[in-house]
Amino acid sequence: MGGQPLIVLSEESQRTSGKDAQSMNITAGTAVAESVRTTLGPKGMDKMLVGSTGDVVVTNDGVTILKEMDIEHPAANMIVEVAETQEDEVGDGTTTAVVVSGELLKRAEDLLEQDIHPTTLADGYRQAAERAKEALTEVAIDVDAEDTDVLQEIAATAMTGKGAESAKDTLARIVVDAVRSVVDDDGVDLDNVKIEKVVGGAIEESELVEGVIVDKERVHENMPYFVEDADVAVLDDALEVRETEIDAEVNVTDPDQLNQFIEQEEQQLREMVDSLVEAGADVVFAQDGIDDMAQHFLAEEGVLAVRRVKSSDADAIARATGARVVSNVTDVTGDDLGFAGNVAQKDVGGDQRVFVEEVDDAKAVTLVLRGGTDHVLDEVERAVEDSLGVVRVTLEDGKVLAGGGAPETELSLDLREFADGIEGREQLAVEAFADAVEVIPRTLAENAGLDPIDSLVDLRSNHDAGETASGLDAYTGDIVDMSEDGVVEPLRVKTQAIESATEAAVMILRIDDVIAAGDLAGGGTDDDDDDAGAPGGPGGMGGMGGMGGMGGMGGAM
Ligand code: ADP
Ligand code: MG
Repeated sequence: MGGQPLIVLSEESQRTSGKDAQSMNITAGTAVAESVRTTLGPKGMDKMLVGSTGDVVVTNDGVTILKEMDIEHPAANMIVEVAETQEDEVGDGTTTAVVVSGELLKRAEDLLEQDIHPTTLADGYRQAAERAKEALTEVAIDVDAEDTDVLQEIAATAMTGKGAESAKDTLARIVVDAVRSVVDDDGVDLDNVKIEKVVGGAIEESELVEGVIVDKERVHENMPYFVEDADVAVLDDALEVRETEIDAEVNVTDPDQLNQFIEQEEQQLREMVDSLVEAGADVVFAQDGIDDMAQHFLAEEGVLAVRRVKSSDADAIARATGARVVSNVTDVTGDDLGFAGNVAQKDVGGDQRVFVEEVDDAKAVTLVLRGGTDHVLDEVERAVEDSLGVVRVTLEDGKVLAGGGAPETELSLDLREFADGIEGREQLAVEAFADAVEVIPRTLAENAGLDPIDSLVDLRSNHDAGETASGLDAYTGDIVDMSEDGVVEPLRVKTQAIESATEAAVMILRIDDVIAAGDLAGGGTDDDDDDAGAPGGPGGMGGMGGMGGMGGMGGAM
């Protein structure tokens, strides 16, 4: 092939290498971080996101903003993943993680311009992150699982700045109660805390119900509204006449035959209801339908029955009451039944729901969230989810940090000292890391309308003097002891944020070549076919098409 250029990539592929690739990725990554920076902290602003179908989300929650934003750039998406990891691991601190990651990238860019090698940078950042976790652990405060006040402070701190703020005391109280009731030796399984949203009423009217709430009504108006000391049956079955396996056609020739047929059906339903009644059931939750006739029989027997219960609700009721899910109703026995002190249909904000309360296993709880509109309620739910997450993590780890920029200021000082002991150019990277984490107190100050320089100077001097909990109260603008101020967060929120922020920044920095397939939206197999076909394709065309891309590659090599 002599002087002919060798075509490796398909002609639609785009390739960016070296410094161009780096700066492109850094720009994309920092842009993402910048987009959520104004939402950080109690004085952060909200964002309104309008989807392609016109659906609107108003939120202050970092991960929600980024998920709704429909980001395409691959490096930018790595930053979005930072938020998602944070959300999965701890539930809170998503904005913090993203903002720190963006700042790490921004500081790295300066160093790259000074010809510090990306690998050196990556090493320095990693060392700094390791040290950061130690330093944070050193200043962490132990929390006792019995210390309700501190747990409520933690729950409330996670809700500051969100739509739920006005009612954060009420919410913090029920969040702590909810998490406490589902904790066991294996930790906390938040799947046991169900959230029910009810539009109407004030956020303060939100409450914790120990038990399960089913978004359904009893099936028949003659059934009782409530049953005390209820023996509860949970069915994975219908109370309906069984369809014959074969599609049989029945020809009825005279009225007697028809009556007989109807009687037979009635008899079947009667048997089903009798088995329930004989087993002792006062309340029946069926995942499938309940025939009109069966409803009537059940009502006559004074049984409260609910049909078409979601399987997740049915499972929750079974778990809460100790019932066994019965898949064939005629087989039900007393042993299959669970118990609830009270099953009642109640009006919640104009909707009828069935409450299963006073259950043996208090491990099934439901947070009934109230709010004026759907949008308000959705944001309250997001805040409550963050809050549940931090209380869970605190109960699991027993360690917290003062908030309000205190940990980051402490870190920054610690890392500058740590940098002094580091040989070589990695030292510069550690120093950059130390500068980068200060973005948190700086942003908290900016978002509160304060002068960030003044705040940082005061914070640094307090931390220099050993006040490890000194932070910025975003409401008063004062520099105070944040743990006394009641602003506390789990240690893990911060260590996880540092860890994922560093990983993403390092990953992005180590990329020096971006090769994008021509048709990003197209299916993978099609691309493969194109690639395979390219070398054999019309040489002249391929050569022309490849010129730009190949030229770029040559230049970088
Ligand atoms: P994230 O998504 O990172 O949790 P938030 O918007 O919830 O972002 O802000 C969290 C930051 O706000 C934390 O650094 C926390 O310490 C800080 N913060 C919370 N309450 C206060 C307060 N009253 N004063 C100052 N900072 C606060
Ligand atoms: Mg938060």
